[in-house]
Parts: sequence; structure tokens; C-alpha cells
Amino acid sequence: MPMLDMRTLSMVNAIGAATVALLMTYLWRFVSREWGMRQWVAGTIALAAGSVLLLLRDVAPDWLSIAAGNGLCVLGAGYLALGARRFSGLRDGAPWHWGVALLCTGTAWLFSAVYPSLVMRVFLFSLWTAFFALRCARPLWWTAPAGKFGVGQRFTAGVFYVVAAIMGLRMVLVVLVDPGPGYMQTAAVSVSLGALAQLLSNATSVVGVAMMLNNRLEERLTKMSYLDGLTGISNRRYFDEAYRYEREKLHRSYQMLSAVLIDIDFFKQYNDLYGHQIGDECLVRVARAIESVRGTPDTVVARYGGEEFVVLLPGVGLKAAEKIAGSIADAIHSLRIPHAASTACGYLTVSQGVATVSGAHRKSVSLLEAADRCLYEAKRAGRNQWRSREADNVDAYFATK
Ligand code: GH3
Ligand code: MG
Ligand code: MG
Repeated sequence: MPMLDMRTLSMVNAIGAATVALLMTYLWRFVSREWGMRQWVAGTIALAAGSVLLLLRDVAPDWLSIAAGNGLCVLGAGYLALGARRFSGLRDGAPWHWGVALLCTGTAWLFSAVYPSLVMRVFLFSLWTAFFALRCARPLWWTAPAGKFGVGQRFTAGVFYVVAAIMGLRMVLVVLVDPGPGYMQTAAVSVSLGALAQLLSNATSVVGVAMMLNNRLEERLTKMSYLDGLTGISNRRYFDEAYRYEREKLHRSYQMLSAVLIDIDFFKQYNDLYGHQIGDECLVRVARAIESVRGTPDTVVARYGGEEFVVLLPGVGLKAAEKIAGSIADAIHSLRIPHAASTACGYLTVSQGVATVSGAHRKSVSLLEAADRCLYEAKRAGRNQWRSREADNVDAYFATK
């Protein structure tokens, strides 16, 4: 089949690799330096250059076309693996990749000029390419985030696993099936397999990498949109979603859900006395102190508004929630932030409202409203204290007040 002769395949691969290198260089500009793009760009350029050299067989001398072509392709595969590993948070050094590439160049030269053997060249080239494809795939697969943000990583890893498998198969086939003298003219199975693997890795290195970068940017943006800019803890938007989720879960179960609303006492006076800047720093310290008192792994700590914070405690009853409120008060006391304008205490204090709702009660009582009424009660009683109630009883309780 003249369409499948080796030169045509090499040409398709060289054009493919050059296009990939261009696209990768274009993508490079948009993302963080940390994500291995530099290595990917270097890898795709080396692959493109290697493919062009392989295409020049019979035109350029063998040491350039075969030896350097093989070496550059292996170097490119190595750099792709470096990029993938960097993206996954691993920091490998480049020098030994150069060592492998030089080794491949040397053996390609040895088996073309000294002991001509196509079998050995294809075998060794496939070995190194499969090796680097595996080094690419494994970290991408194992560090992929769960859910939609990991799709790009799993896709790219999957394709590199396939590339490694094809190259492994090629290694076996080239040894078992002697290519024979007509090998250079017609595409033997092993050459077709090699070309297929290269086409696959070319196409996916761009599509997969673009998907991975997109996933990661989206993940970062989503995370940022859920964080409070000043204190770094979750913001109101995140809390509202978590609260809605927990409420829905509650309707399906007989579990408890508690909330602690925390409001800094006399914070307006604090700002007036010490200035807004110091007020901001104080909010950050208070947020950290509250965060240090995590109840359970599902606990959500968020900035509810200005100088108010909220702790949502799924599966936690009133007694345990009261204990947490006590620990929060202690944590803030132990900061010993001077507050000369507070009539509650010489230091900064908080008032808290604690409420619990249980899935066993179908009556729709707002947990947050109950917590807010308790907070108001604590403020009225002189601040620097907490009040608590079962949300289901809150109406009856306050009716008697
Ligand atoms: P109370 O003891 O009744 O809670 O009195 P308060 O002064 O703490 O409550 P009030 O609601 O009257 O005032 C809240 C203050 O919190 C007013 C506002 O200046 C301050 N505040 C809200 N957000 C921020 C912020 O991001 N930074 C700073 N520095 N202050 C803030
Ligand atoms: Mg307030
Ligand atoms: Mg306040």
C-alpha cells in the first residue's frame, strides 16, 4: 500500500508534531509557571524536531536522521513526562532525561552505522517511549482530583497508558516478527503501531493538556469564589450552599444539625478606637481562632457577614454544639486582644447563639433564625456569653420571654 509507506507516515507525524508544538507554545502564555508547561513546550518541540529528522532519512546522513532523530524523539517523550509530573506536583530533575536521550542516540547510531539492525533500533526506541509514556500517565492518573475537575487528567493519563501499551506491543512484535528486507518500503505492523502511538500522543498531548489546564483553572476559580478575601475562610456563598445541602440531607434522616452564630462584641467601637486596618487584622485572628476549634470533619466555618461568623455542625447535637461554643469563646479569650472600649471585658470578646434542629421534627423551623435569636439574647444579657436552644422549641421558649 503506497499510502502507508514509512515516509508518508513520518511526514504525517512530523506535521502533527510541529502543529502540536505551536499549539502548546500558544497555551504556555496563559497559565502558571508551576504547571509544567515549559517542559511540555520543550517536549513537543523536541518531538517535532526529531520527527523532521526521521523524515530526512536517505536525504540527511544516518547519524543525523536516524541517531539524532531517535534521540530527540525520546528526549521529547521524556520532557512530556517531566511536564506531566510537574503538573502533578512532582519535581524531577531533567539531567537524566538527557542521559536517556543520549543513550538512545548512541544506540541508534550503533545499530545503524556499526551493527545495522532495525529490530534493535525499534526495540530500544519503543522501550524508552513506553517507559516515558508510563511516567507521564501514572502521576496524572493518581493525582487527578475526584469529579469533573479530574476529567482532563484522567483522559490524558488514559491515552498515555494506551501509548505505553502500543509501544510495549511494538517491542514484542518487532522481535517476534522479522521485518525483512521489504520493511522500509511497506508499513510493517510494528511501524504502523509506532506511527499510531505517535499520532495518539500528538493529538492527546494538546487536547488532554488543554483540558487539564482548563480543569485546573476552573477548580482554582471555584475555590476562590468560595473563600472570603480578608480572612481566607469560607465565605457566605459557600456557607449558603453547605447549609442548603445539610438541610436537605436532614429531611431524609433523623440526624441533628447545629449552628453557632458568633458576633464580635462592640466591634464598631473597636474600629473607631484602633482604626479599620487593625480591625481587619483582628477579624483575621478571630477567624483563625474559630477555625482552630473544628468539631467534626464535616464542620463548616464561614464568615457570615461583617464581624459575624458561623459554624455549621452536621450530625452534632445541642450539648456538643454548646461545648464548641465554649471552646470558641476560650480560643478568642486566649488571643487577649485589647479592647479598651468594651464594657464587657478589657479584651475582645464574642457573643454566640447556638441552635440545633433534628431531622425527627418535620416542622420547618429555621435553624439560623433560632441561632440568631439566641445570639440576640446573649447580646441583651450583657455580651461575652452564649445562649442555646433546640430550634424546634425556640418559638415556645421566646414566647414566654
Ligand atoms: P455589638 O456588640 O452589638 O455586636 O456591636 P457591634 O459594634 O459589634 O455591632 P455593629 O453591627 O453595630 O457594628 C459592626 C461593625 O463591624 C461595623 C463595621 O465597621 C465593622 N465591620 C464590618 N465588616 C468589617 C470589616 O471587614 N473590617 C473592619 N475593620 N470592620 C468591619
Ligand atoms: Mg453584627
Ligand atoms: Mg458585633
